[in-house]
Amino acid sequence: MIIRLVTTLPEFFDKPLSAGVVGKGINAGRLHIEIINLRDYTDDKHRSTDDYPFGGGAGMVMLPEPIFKAVRHIKREDPDAKFYLTSPKGKRFDQKTALTLSRQKSITFFCGRYEGVDERVRPLFDEELSIGDFVLSGGEIAALAMVDAVARLIPGVLGNQESILEESFMGPILEYPQYTRPRVFEGKKVPDILLSGNHKKIMRYRRLEALRRTRDRRPDLYAAAVLTEDELSLIKERSL
Ligand code: SAH
Repeated sequence: MIIRLVTTLPEFFDKPLSAGVVGKGINAGRLHIEIINLRDYTDDKHRSTDDYPFGGGAGMVMLPEPIFKAVRHIKREDPDAKFYLTSPKGKRFDQKTALTLSRQKSITFFCGRYEGVDERVRPLFDEELSIGDFVLSGGEIAALAMVDAVARLIPGVLGNQESILEESFMGPILEYPQYTRPRVFEGKKVPDILLSGNHKKIMRYRRLEALRRTRDRRPDLYAAAVLTEDELSLIKERSL
């Protein structure tokens, strides 16, 4: 898969893409990342990418021309490319979107800066994506978050594909609590059942804890979850 990041701050991506799961994906040849400097698509000597907003108001707005040029260039080189504009006004990025993106051959994220982009560039993009209801000072961090979420879903990037299936949000409920060594830490014991070796009991315990967490922390997800007969009887049995 090819991921392109169009930015005015290419140095932003120097380190974070070479570490961890994304770096592993690159080294394994599953993922190719290209950083594109928007300033390479400017003509003036200052390599400007922004200007004052028509109608007044605070801050600067990103010029449409360099964005058009960069996107057209990528489209010519790679007709399969899908384009995503990072924006707090976009559709909320979630695990389902990450899965959809991970199945594309080529995706490009455009990282905004200043007050955002000139409205006329919007039709260039397949979708506008937001990582949450807060305002960042640029799209780079948003793009990094999305690249990370997408990269780990590309087959062959994570060692253990099973861990993906059990994770929070892949199903409609949150993940169960996890423990590792030591068995007792500062007086707190790992639940006995996890040491029992009884896989069926462990599975039921985890499912119950996952449901409990979801109900307590994310009542919206809990209300929307379609539970199996077995889960319903588990809840009744333990009066969750
Ligand atoms: N004035 C704009 C905010 C611009 S923030 C507004 O009120 O909507 C500058 C840039 O940061 C945006 O163009 C976008 O690329 C990025 N950005 C900020 N918050 C974001 C978020 N929640 N999700 C994704 N990108 C975001």
